[in-house]
Amino acid sequence: MTTLSIAQIVPCTEAEGPGRRFALWFQGCPLRCPGCCNPEFLPFQGGQERSLADLVAEIEQARNQGIEGITLLGGEPFAHAAGASALAREARRLGLSVMVFSGYTLPELRQSPTAAGLLESIDILVDGPYRRDLPDTKRRWIGSTNQNIHFLTDRYRADDPCWKQRNTLEIRLDSSGLTVNGFPALHAKEFWKGSFPHA
Ligand code: SF4
Repeated sequence: MTTLSIAQIVPCTEAEGPGRRFALWFQGCPLRCPGCCNPEFLPFQGGQERSLADLVAEIEQARNQGIEGITLLGGEPFAHAAGASALAREARRLGLSVMVFSGYTLPELRQSPTAAGLLESIDILVDGPYRRDLPDTKRRWIGSTNQNIHFLTDRYRADDPCWKQRNTLEIRLDSSGLTVNGFPALHAKEFWKGSFPHA
C-alpha cells in the first residue's frame, strides 16, 4: 500500500495557486533554506501517514465541491517523489491541475533519477530554494525572486492576471485546530504564537 507522510492539508484554498485548490504539505525536507516559513515541516519524523487511496478520496470530494487543482508543497515534494507522483497522476485522472513548489531547480530535477515521474504530471512548477534576502513583492504566491515559475503544460499561462494579484493569507480554526496558509505565513504564525513584532 502506498502511503504518504503529510504535514498539513487544506482542502480548499485560494492562497496556494490559481483558482481554488486542494493544498497538501509533505512532512520532511532535506534542504534548510534560512527563513523557511515551515520549519515544523522539515523533519522527516512526525506528520501523519495517509494512504494514497484515502487522499485520493479526499481530493475527489474536494473536486466535487469545485476545486480546479491540487498544490503540493513542503517539506519538499520531490523528497517524497514516489507518493507525490502517484497522487499527482490520480489528480490528473480526476481532471485536476497540479502545481508543485520545490526547493530544487528544474535543471537539478531533470538530472535526478527519481524526479521524472512527478515532473511529467505537473502543470506549474515553482522551483528553487527560498532566499529571504530576495523577497518577491511582484509575483503572487512566489517567495523570492530567484525562484522561477515553469509552465510545463499549456493549461495555465504566464500572462494570466492572477499572477499579479495581491497575496492572501488564510486562517482557519476548526475542531482539528488552527491552520495558517498563504503569504506571509511566517508572520502570521509568529502572530498566533504571540511574538508578532508590532507593525
Ligand atoms: S525547500 Fe521549502 S520547505 Fe525546504 S527548507 Fe527550503 S523553503 Fe523550507
